[in-house]
Amino acid sequence: MKSVLSLALCFIGTVAVGQNDVERTVITNVHLFDGVSDERFEDVNVLIEDHLISMISADAISAEGATVIDGNGGTLMPGLVDNHVHLSMVTVTIPDLLFGEPTYPLVRAVRDAEEMLMRGVTTGRDMGGNIFGLKRAIDEGVVPGPRIYPSGRFLSQTSGHFDFRTKTETHRAFSGIEPTGDRLGWVFTVDGVPQVLAAARENLRLGASQIKIAAGGGYSSPTDPLLSTQFTFEEMKAAADAATDFGTYVTMHAYTPDAVNRAIDAGIKDVGHGQLLDRPTLERMAEEGVFLSTQPFTVCNEPQLDAFSNSKLNTVCQGTANMYQIVSELPELNVTWGTDLFNVPDASDQVQQLERLLPWFEPVEILKQATGNATALLAMSGDKNPYPDGPIGRVVEGGYADLLIVDGNPLEDLAAVTNADNIKLIMKNGEVFKDTLE
Ligand SMILES: [Zn+2]
Repeated sequence: MKSVLSLALCFIGTVAVGQNDVERTVITNVHLFDGVSDERFEDVNVLIEDHLISMISADAISAEGATVIDGNGGTLMPGLVDNHVHLSMVTVTIPDLLFGEPTYPLVRAVRDAEEMLMRGVTTGRDMGGNIFGLKRAIDEGVVPGPRIYPSGRFLSQTSGHFDFRTKTETHRAFSGIEPTGDRLGWVFTVDGVPQVLAAARENLRLGASQIKIAAGGGYSSPTDPLLSTQFTFEEMKAAADAATDFGTYVTMHAYTPDAVNRAIDAGIKDVGHGQLLDRPTLERMAEEGVFLSTQPFTVCNEPQLDAFSNSKLNTVCQGTANMYQIVSELPELNVTWGTDLFNVPDASDQVQQLERLLPWFEPVEILKQATGNATALLAMSGDKNPYPDGPIGRVVEGGYADLLIVDGNPLEDLAAVTNADNIKLIMKNGEVFKDTLE
């Protein structure tokens, strides 16, 4: 889009677009939430050429041979970006993941990816797992699903958050046997700078767009204290150096000020949770441009977890309100939305989880966390960005045509997005995946 002003000042006319070999779609009769602005722009026309948005105009657009979509007075907005997914294990249990039939988790992942796209989530930043094959199949159009920014395998220290060995699985240093999670490609359980460097570089070789480490305790993991810090400064710095040298960045699992401050000192640019952070740490992140990619963990008990894990979840859950309260007072902090759906019986509430943010944010701020705020985060993948043709998360000229048309005005009522029936059109990469416009 030229600018807010040029749109507002444009006289209604017709813009003619010439003919050549591209596939064109014109969207008419919509209002626009672009993912960045505080207001909605009334009566907008959008031209899509192949997979990119090429024109946004208040004038009618006449394009030779174009397919015309009448948006029926709905709101055109960016497809949603869930900045914390684990697409290879959304609804798969950890025992099935590690010890079930080898192809079963993948079959579920294929289904989970399609369902995610059909909720309006057109991009998922995958925060760890065996994901490269599914990503490739989606990108090739073999199966439907969101774009995936893959982290590849989690990096975890021994006894860290992603060390999911059973008690009978002795450490490989003492048994010579590779842990099951490592053998199946879910995790790199590594200790010391050389192993961290090798793991990070191996992920980058396989196509990771960013590196994911566990820098502190977690609630779903069986043995680590929630408040523990994981990986030494030198190990964290090794991961950050490997990523930076390849033009990308490290993101991390961490809740606490100790873990997050050590990681920032080591050059890590994105905090993947942060629910137990204090004001000084959040202010530091705002000042130093470190992203907070967090989730509204407001359900304090999950039936699939044991008592130890639920007690840890309860602490994280209590921290959530405190963190969002501070965040709501720090407008310069880069905040993105995610769900971290992982090992859950049912993921259908993914987009409804946006409503959990309403105690702290206006709908427009919530929608930005799920769209335009993600643009710069995803772009940090730099040389390793799997989708380098244009920005993602915004409706802008030159951006990817990942778009929704929703019934109503989501800036006034989030239900326009969170009620799936209100999402009338889902487009990814210029291709329509859902169209229930009248
Ligand atoms: Zn996660």
